[in-house]
This record gives sequence, structure tokens and C-alpha cells, in this order.
Amino acid sequence: MEEQLRKSDTLSVVGELAAGIAHEIRNPMTALKGFIQLLQSSVKEDFSTYFNVITSELQRIESIITEFLVLAKPQAMNYQKRNINGVMQDTLDLLSAQALMQNIQFETSFKENPFIIYCEGNQLKQVFINIIKNAIEVMPNGGVIYISSERHEEKFVKISIKDQGAGIPEKKIKKLGEPFYTTKERGTGLGLMVSYKIIEEHNGYIDVESEIGIGTIFHIYLPVNKEEEIVFLRK
Ligand code: ADP
Ligand code: MG
Repeated sequence: MEEQLRKSDTLSVVGELAAGIAHEIRNPMTALKGFIQLLQSSVKEDFSTYFNVITSELQRIESIITEFLVLAKPQAMNYQKRNINGVMQDTLDLLSAQALMQNIQFETSFKENPFIIYCEGNQLKQVFINIIKNAIEVMPNGGVIYISSERHEEKFVKISIKDQGAGIPEKKIKKLGEPFYTTKERGTGLGLMVSYKIIEEHNGYIDVESEIGIGTIFHIYLPVNKEEEIVFLRK
């Protein structure tokens, strides 16, 4: 519990900074990208390696900014009744091309369908994308990602995403969701932070189960709240 409180304190401070900084960086970025494209088309010699590095680094900055913006405070929240399985299916469709290219299959099991909850569908989609992308990234040789949803203790839906990756050492599990915690050469370490924040805002929580050499399961618990209840809980 203490651990959780500290995490959300950090989140709100970072969140406030994020809004301002992200917008300030976006504009010059757009100009940079435009001029680099111009330069690329007018330079005679073959500088393509340099241009590739510049372009990929600019893309990296952009993805950091995008993730930061999700943290920004004044998000247009649009809580609605949604079939959570439908939100998940939309996410899987979105990621299907990437999965195919990496020889990854999605296997779903929705125990109760439809499963209607009161939520911010687009934000939950972002969470599912972040967690499933991580799963894809830890399975370079392909395999199966299992996705399931079921009722948990009457008032929750439990969504589980299970991969066949290398697993996470027990000591590192508590670092998940910390800003900038990444073990990837080109990672941002913001995807899970954003995800934890969104799930906390829904009054839900995330649990991680992992076994080295076997894989990892992310369990997302979301309350099956009615509108009044969620407003009350968020206060
Ligand atoms: P990034 O993907 O940019 O590194 P994330 O916040 O999405 O940032 O993830 C943070 C770190 O958590 C990853 O770098 C990785 O070490 C670990 N991680 C997340 N998901 C998994 C997973 N499914 N299996 C193993 N490690 C994971
Ligand atoms: Mg990630």
C-alpha cells in the first residue's frame, strides 16, 4: 500500500510537468522533421546512414513525448459503458500486423462476453497496447500470447496477458512502472508507468506474475463500477 501511494505521488508531479514540456517540444520537433526531409532530398552525397539515425532518434523523442502527454493532467476523460472484451479485440486487431511479422499468435478466452464495465475505452486501449507490445518485444522468436478476461470477486474484471518471454527477476518486479525504468537499448521506460496511472485512475490495480525462462503474466483488475460509484471513488 505504501509503495502504491509513493508511486502515485511521483506520477502526479511528473504529470503536471509533462503537459507543459511535451507541448513545448512538439512544435520545434515538427519544424526539425520538415527541414531534415528537405535537406535529405537536396543533398547530393549519400548521407543516408546519418539521415536514418536522425530520423530514428527523432521518432524516439516523439514516442517519449507521446507517452508523456498521456500523463498530462487535463485529459479529456470520456467514461462510458463499454464491453471490455471489445476494447481488447480492437487492440489485438490494431497489433495484428506487427504480431504476424514476428510470428506471434494471439489466443483469447473471454469467459463472460460481453463484459460491460464503466471505463475510458481509449485509455484502456493504450494500456493494452503498452502491455501487449512489451509481450511481443520479449518474444523475438515468436510464440503465443494468451489473453483472457473473467470476473474476479464479484466487483472486478480480471484481464490477463501472458507471454512466453524470458521472465522478470523477482527483485525487478517492483521497479515496473517506475519512470524511465527500462532494460531495453531503445526503450523509454514510460509505457508501464502510463499504464499503471491509467489503471489507478480507474480504481483498479495491476499484478505481475513471472517465472524466469517461462514467461510473464500481467493481470489487470478493473472495477465493474457504475457511474456514481466511480465519481465518488475518484474524489
Ligand atoms: P520499455 O518497454 O520502453 O522498456 P516499459 O515501461 O513498457 O518500458 O517496460 C519497462 C521494463 O519492464 C522493460 O524494459 C522490461 O525490462 C520490463 N518488462 C515489461 N514487460 C515485460 C515482459 N512482458 N516480460 C519481461 N520484461 C518486461
Ligand atoms: Mg514498453
